[in-house]
Amino acid sequence: MMFSIVTANTEQTEELGKIIGTLLEPGDLLCLFGDLGAGKTHLSYGIAQGLEVREQYITSPTFTFVNEYEGRIPFYHIDLYRLKDPSELEGIGFEEYVESDGATVIEWAERAEEELPSAFLSIYLSHLSENSREVGFLAEGERYEKLLENLRDRIKGIYIEAI
Ligand code: ADP
Ligand code: MG
Repeated sequence: MMFSIVTANTEQTEELGKIIGTLLEPGDLLCLFGDLGAGKTHLSYGIAQGLEVREQYITSPTFTFVNEYEGRIPFYHIDLYRLKDPSELEGIGFEEYVESDGATVIEWAERAEEELPSAFLSIYLSHLSENSREVGFLAEGERYEKLLENLRDRIKGIYIEAI
């Protein structure tokens, strides 16, 4: 299944993340795609809130590649922006995070394309204007089809579906 919605401002993107976070289960993997400033980190911040992460400041793990948080389930926030070569993934324990029982979100997931498992939820963020973003979802695998169905139900009437 795939569909797209529009968020009109930063808060709406965070709120969307929050709703996604409430739906996540142990082992879930979300891959985020989109240019710098598209809203990946703000969406991740919302997801952390939905996972009941209490730590106050969630920033992109720019220097460490991975930030780990304790929430309703463990939350692993990976940002591969500064990855120079896929061979570096082994050193950060990439596979362990992806296969863990936490919820894992990967910014710049395309930089690990070869190392991704077959099933995950893809989220594509793109600029529509200064303050609006299109957020597209694509589910691969049974679990993510179900997750996306639940998400679509939850956000019906809250967000405008893009065509
Ligand atoms: P990325 O992680 O994709 O590089 P960030 O989440 O760090 O992007 O930054 C997104 C920037 O765009 C922030 O400055 C945010 O305030 C701004 N912004 C404006 N409108 C939106 C929106 N609808 N959704 C998300 N961010 C938005
Ligand atoms: Mg970011």
